[in-house]
Amino acid sequence: MAITVKKIEFRRKLTFLERIWLPEILRGLWITNRHFVVNLSLHILNAVGIKTRRKGAVTIQYPEQHRGYHWRLRTAHYLTRREGGGPRCVGCMMCETICPAKCIYIVAKEHPDPETEKQAASFTIDMGKCVYCGLCVEACPEDAIRMDSGHLEISCYSRQEMMYPIDRLLATEHDPAPYKDYKRFLQE
Ligand code: SF4
Ligand code: SF4
Repeated sequence: MAITVKKIEFRRKLTFLERIWLPEILRGLWITNRHFVVNLSLHILNAVGIKTRRKGAVTIQYPEQHRGYHWRLRTAHYLTRREGGGPRCVGCMMCETICPAKCIYIVAKEHPDPETEKQAASFTIDMGKCVYCGLCVEACPEDAIRMDSGHLEISCYSRQEMMYPIDRLLATEHDPAPYKDYKRFLQE
């Protein structure tokens, strides 16, 4: 079979009208103003009691007002515990190995229970480097690490505070509250 080479052009040449910018600027202004007028009209009609099929767009007043998170949204990590209270993590390093951002740092040690091979002596995640890909959760054979804590507001004042140590990861649990209003905001 003959091999053909397909040439892919990455950049399309701009037309004359696109190169002089003005028509594109006017087009952008037209789109923005059209949305503004349509939304304003819908809000006025709804305010005076006239029902419309579509409701006007609403800006969520973050951070005073929160939109509920979708149940599939990945939020900050936490480490789960066994029924007896000990960490589920067996220090296998699968999450550290697969992490594309190289932001998980684990030191493993022998577990006192001979049935369990190892445990994590230290387990730190650099949240400032994490790209929230979820691969660490997928790779874990023990369901020891999860990303459904419901916490997303992780900003802080120093790089050091972004390093989440094992105590903090074990103290965090799944919080259902941020997820529960997701449908309500879609319906409003
Ligand atoms: S979510 Fe992705 S980037 Fe973040 S710690 Fe897990 S594997 Fe690494
Ligand atoms: S969190 Fe899971 S994948 Fe990571 S070291 Fe512990 S047991 Fe292994």
